[in-house]
Amino acid sequence: MPDKLIEGLRRFRRDVFPQYREHYANLVNAGQKPATLFIGCADSRVIPELFTGAGPGELFHVRNMGAFVPPFEDDRSYHGTSAAIEFALQILKVDEIIVCGHTHCGAIQALYQPPASTPHIDRWLELAMDARLELHGADGVPDEDVLRRTEQRAIAIQLERLLTYPQVRERIEAGQLFLHGWHYIIEEGTIDILDVERSAFVRMEP
Ligand SMILES: [Zn+2]
Repeated sequence: MPDKLIEGLRRFRRDVFPQYREHYANLVNAGQKPATLFIGCADSRVIPELFTGAGPGELFHVRNMGAFVPPFEDDRSYHGTSAAIEFALQILKVDEIIVCGHTHCGAIQALYQPPASTPHIDRWLELAMDARLELHGADGVPDEDVLRRTEQRAIAIQLERLLTYPQVRERIEAGQLFLHGWHYIIEEGTIDILDVERSAFVRMEP
């Protein structure tokens, strides 16, 4: 293991864990009861606990390439993301789901410039293909503005696809579940939130 991580573990054990000891004991004894399912990209620069201030026991995470949501499918395949969504709904009974994409997302860039010989990635990217915009430049390379807009469109598509899960639909209709789309702006440390009524992402007030 890298020395830096070992040193980090030592520091956690020595300086951080003691502050949380009681909290962790409660979470172990009573079990976790996070209110929020956080579907985020696996990108190493996206650290939800850092920018939300959430502590242990608050966010139930699903991280994957692009923060994508596969459709509800009953075909007995290995549906890791869907299983986590099911767990969050059925067992944890979360009342909020956040789909959080971000700027400079490699998965979104790959929609335009797919890597070679990556069958799993190719299939996975299909989940956001509809977010792609038509390119007007001669080089066929998306500019930053196109990428930002594609990232936002992909978030909206994933939220829509969550509605293919019967439980999501039922619980929204019963007023027990709320969906949110976040676009995390890495370079500014802020979030643009999807305003469904305006069909636009709106900068969160500081
Ligand atoms: Zn990403």
